[in-house]
Amino acid sequence: MSTAPLPERGGSLTEPFWQAAEEGRFVMPRCSGCARYVWYPEEACPHCGENEIPWVPVSGRGQLFSWAEVKHELYPAYEDTLPYVTGIVTLEEDARVRYVTRIVDADPAALAIDQPMQVVFRTLAFKGVDGEVVAPVFRPSAGAAPGKVDE
Ligand SMILES: [Zn+2]
Repeated sequence: MSTAPLPERGGSLTEPFWQAAEEGRFVMPRCSGCARYVWYPEEACPHCGENEIPWVPVSGRGQLFSWAEVKHELYPAYEDTLPYVTGIVTLEEDARVRYVTRIVDADPAALAIDQPMQVVFRTLAFKGVDGEVVAPVFRPSAGAAPGKVDE
């Protein structure tokens, strides 16, 4: 039985990511050769060719790069989650890392480009799909003024 839209586990390149998330840790693969983050994970660093790319903890802080509120069903298993906000967050450690994620605990109308964001962990489960997964998702940073835009 398909487990889509849940991630592939067991032996996949992303398994350490999901394992860490279950433990409440947000990790990214970082190249031992050139120290750049390699997101999405790859067997070899696309920047320098290094094969050793360990997973390292990151702060879970970032900025909102873009987002969209999804109101119509794109996939049957998502029906019960509508509406939801999907977005891209750049990481504080390296803004070249763009993490595609769910945006939670936010009024979509109050979101703003470059708004400070922070990671939180949510269990994802879908109607008609066996299993669940803990995923790092993002919400506006506590204490940050919603809608604040740097002039
Ligand atoms: Zn590298």
